[in-house]
Amino acid sequence: MKQTTQTNTSSGGGEVPGRTCSGCTLCCSLFGIVELKKPVFTICKHCVIGKGCKIYEVRPQTCAAFLCCYRTSAALLEYWNPKVCGMVVNREANGETDIVSIVCSNGAKHRWKQEPFWSDIKRWAAVFHTRYGAIVRILRKGEPVLIINPKTFEAHAAGNLKGMEAVPQWQQPVITGA
Ligand code: SF4
Ligand code: SF4
Repeated sequence: MKQTTQTNTSSGGGEVPGRTCSGCTLCCSLFGIVELKKPVFTICKHCVIGKGCKIYEVRPQTCAAFLCCYRTSAALLEYWNPKVCGMVVNREANGETDIVSIVCSNGAKHRWKQEPFWSDIKRWAAVFHTRYGAIVRILRKGEPVLIINPKTFEAHAAGNLKGMEAVPQWQQPVITGA
């Protein structure tokens, strides 16, 4: 979640060199922000789409602390740039559960099933489950939450996001069912 003129929003390490938020504000549209009571899949009132945050200097801590996986993991190749693919990959701990979410914009609701994305998602589902017991899920506005089975790679509808859309991302219940 970025400023109009600056691209590095994190004070810590762990960022992929050369990658910036330049031209992207997708997380400000797709993610819930607890402090603002902003539900998921709503554009933040402080966002200038594709440019940045109007209140960057005083933005909530949730925003200040956030970088998507494209910014923090070189394992995500360049085609995962959110402003290009329309999807944001986020890894979070929800209680005891390690979750990798592929959060899709309305214009990219079905792109996760296309290559090269689908091969990556299947690999993450298998590897993250084996190593960390993590689940990989697909989130789309108005669609069921899909959990990717780490063995068969079937996408299981594991709950309806409709009711969850009013709930900020980090307060959402864990839905399992792979
Ligand atoms: S989705 Fe990722 S690249 Fe885009 S603004 Fe947010 S943190 Fe930056
Ligand atoms: S406050 Fe700023 S950084 Fe946070 S979601 Fe809104 S526009 Fe994005």
